[in-house]
Amino acid sequence: MRDREKLATLSAGGARERPIAVESSAVIEGRVRAMPCVQCEGAYRVGEHRSEGPGLRAVDAKCDRCGAPRTLWFRIVENEPN
Ligand SMILES: [Zn+2]
Repeated sequence: MRDREKLATLSAGGARERPIAVESSAVIEGRVRAMPCVQCEGAYRVGEHRSEGPGLRAVDAKCDRCGAPRTLWFRIVENEPN
C-alpha cells in the first residue's frame, strides 16, 4: 500500500512539482475522474479545487469505492489569443 502511494506521488499530477498541464480549469474534473484510484482502481469523486498560486490548482479527490484520498495538481496553461 505504501509503495502504491509513493508511485502515485511520483506520477504526473501527484505532487506540486509535477502538475498536469491543462488548457482550462473546466477540464480538471474530467481529468481526475479519468484516473483510477491507486489503491483499488475505483473512480474518484472530485472534491474542492484550491488555488495554490498563479495557474496552479490542487484538487482534493476521494475514491468512491475505498475512500482513499488523493490530491492532484494541475497547472493551467492558457493559450493566449494573438
Ligand atoms: Zn479506491
